[in-house]
Amino acid sequence: MAITQKTLKQSTHPCGFCSTGGRHDLCPGGVLNGNQVEVVLCGCTQHEIVRRCLECGLRSNAGVAESTWTCLDPEECEGRRAKARAAYATTDVARVLTNQPEKPTRAPAKPKTGKCLCCGETTGGGLFRPGHDSKYLTSAVTLIRDGQISLDDTLTKWHREGLSVALQGKLQKRVGA
Ligand SMILES: [Zn+2]
Ligand SMILES: [Zn+2]
Ligand SMILES: [Zn+2]
Ligand SMILES: [Zn+2]
Repeated sequence: MAITQKTLKQSTHPCGFCSTGGRHDLCPGGVLNGNQVEVVLCGCTQHEIVRRCLECGLRSNAGVAESTWTCLDPEECEGRRAKARAAYATTDVARVLTNQPEKPTRAPAKPKTGKCLCCGETTGGGLFRPGHDSKYLTSAVTLIRDGQISLDDTLTKWHREGLSVALQGKLQKRVGA
């Protein structure tokens, strides 16, 4: 791969690692822009930004060139990449040979925001914005009374959407089921 000179761009926003859960220890320092020549620096102010080799992932201001964001020593860099490839290959092969089930991937962290089922606006992580559950209920009641949707279909859909049993009960009551 041809090594290109990188220009640096200071971002005012901390990177995903620094902003989500404060994993400053995982901060990549900066990420390569889609144009491949610009590194957007992490805007985190809680620690010094450490450069990371874009080829092998080495994090070191002493070992990684500021102009290219790659290792100053290409041989060491290639060595590290070969090692990573080998490690990856052996774990994969070992798993297949011994027929071990794939490690369960850890469930992704619960998002801190959600989308309101009623209006699509951002919520604080719940299914609804405050008070919108009753709006959602009312519109379902109207649709069912108008014969546009069935109660059963609505309950199935609500179950899938994760709505509370309490709200489902309210719906059944309101349509007189
Ligand atoms: Zn940080
Ligand atoms: Zn960061
Ligand atoms: Zn490297
Ligand atoms: Zn809403």
